[in-house]
Amino acid sequence: MTDQFDVIVIGGGPAGYPAAIRAAQNKLAVACIDEWRNFDGSRAFGGTCLNAGCIPSKALLESSELFQRAKQEFATHGIKVGEVTLDLAAMQKRRASIVKTMTGGILALFKSNGVVGLQGHGLLTAANRVEFTAPDGTKSALTAKDVILASGAAPIRLKTVPHDGVHIVDSWNALEFDAVPPRLGVIGAGVIGLELGSVWRRLGSTVTVLEATEQFLPMVDQAIAKEAMRHFKKLGLDIKLGANVTGASVDNGVVNCVYSTAQGEQKLQVDKLVVAVGRRPYTQDLLAEGTGVKLDPRGFIQVDDHCRTSVPHVWAVGDVVRGPMLAHKGKEEGIMVADLIAGRFGEVNYKVIPNVIYTAPEIAWVGQTEEQVKASGRAYKVGSFPFAASGRARAMEAAQGMAKVVSAVDNDEILGIHVIGPLAGELIAEAVLAMEYSASTEDLQRTIHAHPTLSEAIHEAALAVDKRAIDGINR
Ligand code: FAD
Ligand code: NAD
Repeated sequence: MTDQFDVIVIGGGPAGYPAAIRAAQNKLAVACIDEWRNFDGSRAFGGTCLNAGCIPSKALLESSELFQRAKQEFATHGIKVGEVTLDLAAMQKRRASIVKTMTGGILALFKSNGVVGLQGHGLLTAANRVEFTAPDGTKSALTAKDVILASGAAPIRLKTVPHDGVHIVDSWNALEFDAVPPRLGVIGAGVIGLELGSVWRRLGSTVTVLEATEQFLPMVDQAIAKEAMRHFKKLGLDIKLGANVTGASVDNGVVNCVYSTAQGEQKLQVDKLVVAVGRRPYTQDLLAEGTGVKLDPRGFIQVDDHCRTSVPHVWAVGDVVRGPMLAHKGKEEGIMVADLIAGRFGEVNYKVIPNVIYTAPEIAWVGQTEEQVKASGRAYKVGSFPFAASGRARAMEAAQGMAKVVSAVDNDEILGIHVIGPLAGELIAEAVLAMEYSASTEDLQRTIHAHPTLSEAIHEAALAVDKRAIDGINR
């Protein structure tokens, strides 16, 4: 193997592997180093997202939703099935096989693009030097004109809630449970808490979610958050707001959790406790002494808008740098950097990053919430459309939620689009494209949407902004 490259990427997650592929497409000699190891010791590219995040969680969300629908909804469609029972081992086997196929796919992509994939540890020793440690401990000194750091993030642990991987667990453990815990506790009503809480609730757990803040989903438009809370309650998630977890211990296989509320100290007993209180940038053993790469006070690698670090020719992308911890944000940063290195144009529009929470109904948004626009002082107008009035949503037995468009009064600019409802994560792509192309609300109003589709909800919400909705009541 050569030890000289144009580009070395450290980290093979959704920020690192696309950077490596794009750099190779730009005719550069590229190596991508990744140290991910699964619980069984196997190695795989794909990072958190493919191995322990986006993909396995969506596999289980899909399976558990089907399980729930088969039990509760099939009869409404006039479909009679026998008793619906759970085969968790088969469900988990499917989850694992999807992950294996997807991570294996990265190796195939590396091969077809000519990226050298190196499984092992990478350490930046100087601006253009990387020490690679192979799984057998062999070290080699590699050089590159540019280095891209894409080392990702790790779950935040609470000192007073000691992780043991069996009873007190993180999101990765909770994706691989081999039995449905009768009582599940979740610390944090963020994206992970709600997605994983939904999975295990649908599969039969009694789920209590403890959230420190008084406000539910503060990053979400509050009309949507209110609607979401209604659906989570209906599912049976017991979400306690203003519940700050202060400690937990395991006794005889039972987790005793202590939390404080306005009413004082409270106790909760569960069989498993998932800690989902956020993630922190991961830079352990990434930077040797004296590289000059600066971290910010929260431990993120400091970068400018183009992901340049404080050291020339060293770049950083994905969860290890500022901004939302989302796979698609990291991917676009990786692609931008690989293009910039090759002397091409590259940019990430940080104002138009879609967010999706894959619960049922799904929650998706792009741009500013109504609350953010209000706080900015800009005059705005709002239109919304309920899925209850959508023929397609009715046909799908999924007529819950709404689409909402927030627009500027002065120039009709679309400021934010928010959806809670069936396939909201797919619907938001139209909103992202509209905002990326600086479409006005009128542009969206004049765009033909196929009937009957869920996308008509966004069309009608845009019309409702000017009180011109046809299929909904204009308020
Ligand atoms: P990572 O995916 O963490 O990859 C970093 C890689 O670098 C890892 O393989 C790590 O082992 C490796 N590495 C680190 N240091 C070194 C080193 N020194 N040498 C060699 N290798 C190293 N985001 C979404 O957009 N949609 C979702 O649906 C979604 N669902 C999620 C569900 C869960 C349960 C979790 C935990 C996260 C989810 N996320 C989701 C977030 C998403 O996984 C992250 O934003 C994304 O993985 C970040 O990509 P990354 O490449 O920056 O880092
Ligand atoms: P989060 O920041 O979304 O939520 C953590 C929650 O835990 C917060 O609401 C916080 O108030 C609460 N909390 C913190 N300490 C607490 C305590 N002691 N007691 C009670 N509550 C406490 O973090 P997350 O859910 O762990 O997710 C991490 C990251 O992963 C997110 O940034 C998200 O972007 C990403 N992710 C994305 C998706 C998706 O895109 N669908 C899915 C999963 C994860």
